[in-house]
Amino acid sequence: MVVNKLYFKAGEIASKALKEGIKLVKPGASLLSICETIENRILNLGGRCAFPANISVNQIAAHYTSPPEDTAKIPEKGVVKVDCGAHVDGYLSDTAKSVALNPEYEPLVETAEKALNSAIKWVRSGVKISKISAVIAQTIKKQDFKPVENLTGHEMKRWNLHAGLSIPNIPSLSTNTKLRENMVIAIEPFVTTKKGRGRVEAGKNAYIYKVDNKRRRDPSVKNFVEKYKTLPFASRWVVKDFGKPALNEVKKLVEKGVLISYPVLKEIGRGIVAQAEHTLVIDKNKALVTTKRT
Ligand code: MN
Ligand code: MN
Repeated sequence: MVVNKLYFKAGEIASKALKEGIKLVKPGASLLSICETIENRILNLGGRCAFPANISVNQIAAHYTSPPEDTAKIPEKGVVKVDCGAHVDGYLSDTAKSVALNPEYEPLVETAEKALNSAIKWVRSGVKISKISAVIAQTIKKQDFKPVENLTGHEMKRWNLHAGLSIPNIPSLSTNTKLRENMVIAIEPFVTTKKGRGRVEAGKNAYIYKVDNKRRRDPSVKNFVEKYKTLPFASRWVVKDFGKPALNEVKKLVEKGVLISYPVLKEIGRGIVAQAEHTLVIDKNKALVTTKRT
């Protein structure tokens, strides 16, 4: 195993921050304060945020981080997904867990965890990605739920959160590419109910952005490149770091194609969604989970 030890440090930090965030998920709690608690915890533990903390509620599957002055609260019922990541000197981690606010959705949340853990058992050098995808889909279908097809796990490289390979949650969208020793991947099953379509679509709002790698030498994004490097950032961070008017600049840069925006993703059939995610380092005969829940 020659993978940099800092991947494990980043994993431990994200795991601790996630645990703290999850504790705060109670009806009536402010999403903004949960996001900020997680992000501050990551900093206090000696890491930096790999991306803004995501708190996606019910039919929202992913990419909701609080906008500036967000007044949104945790609802009484449903499912809340908390997704966060840290990095230490560019070595990344990415982890997520769901909370069922009412017992009706506990099986959905448990199924996401089960799909993740079943997949992890198969991870080793030489295994085909399609095998991992099949294990995820089968585990979910066995519980009479649906995998969300157009959200995937992903390879990670230093400073690159979504690098190279995708790890789909259904085998028909997967490939026979084999996992190799020392790769770093995130596996993240998303599960919805029978009512759901098993697909997400982009909503009209986006609160997360990233500099397009191909445009990072463009003078108009100099400040963003210096501050956020190659990693995603929140509109909330832009206000804090550069002031409120900078948000208009962000909009213009998205239109210009220099910044990429990540809209909030909603389940198309308005199904409730649960998610579970870990970051893994691939060893010869097993997966080493960097974001282990302690
Ligand atoms: Mn991920
Ligand atoms: Mn994630």
